[in-house]
Amino acid sequence: MAYEKLTAPKNGDAIAANSDGTISVPNHPIIPCIEGDGIGPDLTKAMVRVIDAAVKKVFGGKKSIVWFDVYAGEASVAKYGENVWLPDDTIQAIKDYKVAIKGPLTTPVGGGIRSINVALRQILDLYACVRPVRYFSGVPAPVKEPEKLDVIIYRENTEDIYKGIEFKEGTDDAKDMIKFLKDRYKKEVNFDSGIGIKPVSIQGSKRLVRMAIQYAIEKKKRLVTLVHKGNIMKFTEGAFRDWGYEVAVQEFRDHVVLESELDQHGGKLPAGKVLINDRIADSMFQQLLLRPDEYQVIATLNLNGEYLSDACAAQIGGLGLAPGANIGRPYAVVEATHGTAPKYANKDMANPGSLILSAVMMLEHLGWDECARLVIEGLENTIKAKTVTYDLERQMPGATKVSTSQFATHIIEKINAAK
Ligand code: NAD
Repeated sequence: MAYEKLTAPKNGDAIAANSDGTISVPNHPIIPCIEGDGIGPDLTKAMVRVIDAAVKKVFGGKKSIVWFDVYAGEASVAKYGENVWLPDDTIQAIKDYKVAIKGPLTTPVGGGIRSINVALRQILDLYACVRPVRYFSGVPAPVKEPEKLDVIIYRENTEDIYKGIEFKEGTDDAKDMIKFLKDRYKKEVNFDSGIGIKPVSIQGSKRLVRMAIQYAIEKKKRLVTLVHKGNIMKFTEGAFRDWGYEVAVQEFRDHVVLESELDQHGGKLPAGKVLINDRIADSMFQQLLLRPDEYQVIATLNLNGEYLSDACAAQIGGLGLAPGANIGRPYAVVEATHGTAPKYANKDMANPGSLILSAVMMLEHLGWDECARLVIEGLENTIKAKTVTYDLERQMPGATKVSTSQFATHIIEKINAAK
């Protein structure tokens, strides 16, 4: 644990990785924290206060989070030098301590690293992008009954279009590919086509679906839906569905019932079991609008997951309160899903909801569910009381505008007052 420019806190311990990729959490885990650029520092300060309050309320000092400031984005360039957007120190710290949290980061324009977020996912093999979407009472939403949507989306984070190989129309490579497809496979492709290849593997699909089913079992959910476009893309999307069912049957037989087996149970899911079904992606968009309360855990490939996550977030009032986590085995990085909103940097104005809810995902990942519950309740009641940051206040008639730090204070008061 030698770092170039970091000193790890002495008053905490590292989370340990078990041989199966799960983690063992000490009472005082050290959590690397990238506060992020733009509004990141304001949001991180608020998030830390809220999380510390909930942990103190539940454990009274017997357990605590020991925050460890590490750097990425503009703060990294300032500390480590030009073009060092993601220093080795930060990667090493996350590897050493396993679970980290990050605020939004500026995406460098031109040169060097393409996206810090993508780099982190690849280096740490964070293969599931996990997005819970639920409604908070009082937030303006475009549908009549936004509270009916309460889903968690497991989106594959390493292949499909993230590993897509593309050839630009008109290039020699594209022409070669078109000729190869014709000569070798007798497949006609228009000569003026761009070409894209989308790889989907057994291993990549199975580990993603495995994580979604494990979550459903642990959290006593009743349904995991595999979403795919397998009616058209049989060997990628369709295979994802087939491999998903295979994982369910081969690894979770005692816990799951497939939709095709429901008849054997009189059409009803037996108590304590998780139903595994699948839906075609386009029909899933309809379903989530028309019958949102029929879905719980969704496992899907990269592109479908990207569309679905944002569509679901919009349905309950936008991305402002949508958290995210990138989870692998054993590493996990939770993150706010919005950007750095540079216009509001250092103004103590922006909404810390997304980062706070990302920290809630971190608490759940640590197994500190009671702390997570308290934070969600505190946030929910603060929004219900209509004491909100500018972005929500301007859409909520009769609301009182509060600063980032005041918003955190309101949540903390509710946490402290909780029974
Ligand atoms: P953005 O999310 O920063 O801003 C979009 C709009 O939402 C703006 O009007 C902004 O003021 C508002 N907004 C965002 N977060 C808010 C919050 N917490 N509270 C209140 N209002 C909020 O997106 P952008 O303008 O496209 O990007 C700005 C920078 O952020 C770019 O450098 C981009 O690359 C980066 N970015 C980073 C991430 C990430 O780190 N995960 C995600 C998206 C964008």
